[in-house]
Amino acid sequence: MAIRVPTRQLFIGGEWREPILKKRIPIINPATEQIDDVAGCFEYYADLAEGLDAKQKAPVSLPMETFKSYVLKEPLGVVALITPWNYPLLMGAWKVAPALAAGCTAILKPSELASVTCLELADVCREVGLPPGVLNILTGFGTEAGAPLASHPHVDKVAFTGSSATGSKIMASAAQMIKPVSMELGGKSPIIVFEDVDLDKAAEWTLFGCFWTNGQICSATSRLLVHVSVILSVLNTYQMTSQPVLYSSCFGLIFHDLKSRVELIFLWGYISVSGGQYEKVLEFIATAKSEGATILSGGDRPQHLTTGFFVEPTIITDVTTSMQIWREEVFGPVLCVKTFGTEDEAIELANDTHYGLGAAVISNDLERCDRVTKAFRAGVVWINCSQPCFCQAPWGGIKRSGFGRELGEWGLENYLSVKQVTQYITDEPWGWYQSPAKL
Ligand code: NAD
Repeated sequence: MAIRVPTRQLFIGGEWREPILKKRIPIINPATEQIDDVAGCFEYYADLAEGLDAKQKAPVSLPMETFKSYVLKEPLGVVALITPWNYPLLMGAWKVAPALAAGCTAILKPSELASVTCLELADVCREVGLPPGVLNILTGFGTEAGAPLASHPHVDKVAFTGSSATGSKIMASAAQMIKPVSMELGGKSPIIVFEDVDLDKAAEWTLFGCFWTNGQICSATSRLLVHVSVILSVLNTYQMTSQPVLYSSCFGLIFHDLKSRVELIFLWGYISVSGGQYEKVLEFIATAKSEGATILSGGDRPQHLTTGFFVEPTIITDVTTSMQIWREEVFGPVLCVKTFGTEDEAIELANDTHYGLGAAVISNDLERCDRVTKAFRAGVVWINCSQPCFCQAPWGGIKRSGFGRELGEWGLENYLSVKQVTQYITDEPWGWYQSPAKL
C-alpha cells in the first residue's frame, strides 16, 4: 500500500502553517526544505509502489525450452529502521517510504534527541488510513530501544543510519541471526577546488558544502583541498563570505516536549543539537589547535550568544594528514583546509580517509572532473557543487561510511527479497530414470 503525506506544511505553535519563513529570507531554509523533501520522498515511493506490480513475474531467460522461470519481488517482512538526530524526519522518511512501498511492516526508532517529528509522521499515517500496526514508532535510547530491535528474532532486517561506531555494534548483533542490514554511516568528505575556477562560485559551494545545516550532515565536505596557486585568494574570499552569509542564514529547530511539539525559530549563530555535541565540536577545535593547526576564523562560541549551544563557523588551516581534525568526523561547522600541487596529489589526499560517503570537485575543466570522479573512493560525487540530494538518485557510501543504497529504485530494493520461480512446462518425463510402467 502506498501512503501520501497530505501536507507540505510546518507544525508551528500548535497548528499546521504554510512554510512562510522561506519567503521572508532569501537564503534556503533547511527546515522548510526538509519538510518539502519528506513529502517528495513519500510521493516518489508512492509512484514506485504503483509500478511494482507491473514488474512482478519478470521472466528470466533459460537455456532449456522445457522450463520457464520468473522472479517475484516480495516484502522482506518486519523491518527495524534506526535513525539519527540530524534531519530527524527526513532520515525516517528515506526508510519508511520505501519500506511501506515494498509492503513491509516497519518499526521506526528515531534518535532520542529528536523524536517528535517522527511521532507526528505516525499521526499523519493514521489520518491517511494506514492500518494499525503497519508503521510503529518506538522512542527511547539506543541501548534500550535500538539494540533489542537489532537482536530480535522476529525482525527480518535492520536499516540503520547513524555513526560508524553504532553501525558496527548493530552489525555484530544482527550477525548472530544472519539478519540482513544496510548501513548509512559517517563521513569526512573532501572537496577539491582547482585553480581554473570562479572563486565566488567555488566559495559558495565550499561554504554551503560544509556549513549547510551547521555541518551536521553526514556528507558535509569538511576537508577542503585547494590548488596551491589560489589558496590565498580562496581563503580571503571565504573569510569575507563566511561570517556575514552564514550568520544571517542561521536557524534552529527546537524540539520541546510532546505538548508544545516543534517550534521553529531563528537564531543568529550556529546551534548544536545538544550540550554533548556542542562540547564535542569545541573539543575537536581545541585538539586541532593543540596539534599545531591554525584557527583562521571562528573557533569559539559567538560572543553575542551567552546561552545555548552555539559554535561559530570555523575554518582551520595548517592541517597535517595525521591530525584528528583531518581524520575524524566533527559533525559541526568546521572546515579544514589543505593545499595540493597536482591532480594526483589532490586525489591521494581526498581518498586519504577511512570514510567514503561524498566527494566534490570544482573545476571548469570537465574532462578533469570526469577523471577525478572516477578516482574518488566514495558513493556520491558532486561536480561543481556539493550536497544537493535528489530522492531519485542512489545515496550511500563505501568503506566505513557503510553499504547498501537508499533512495531511488535502490532504496526500494532494500526492503524486497527476490524469489526465483522455475516451472517445468512440458508433459514429457524428465528422464532421470525410466518409468517402471514402461519397463
Ligand atoms: P548514533 O549512532 O549515536 O545514533 C543513531 C541511532 O542509533 C539513534 O537512534 C540511537 O538511539 C541508536 N543507537 C545508539 N546505540 C545503539 C545500539 N547499541 N543499538 C541500536 N541502536 C543504537 O548517531 P547520531 O549521533 O544520532 O547521528 C550522527 C551520525 O549519523 C553521524 O556519524 C552522521 O554522519 C551519521 N549520519 C549518516 C547519514 C548517511 O546517510 N550516511 C545520514 C545522517 C547521519
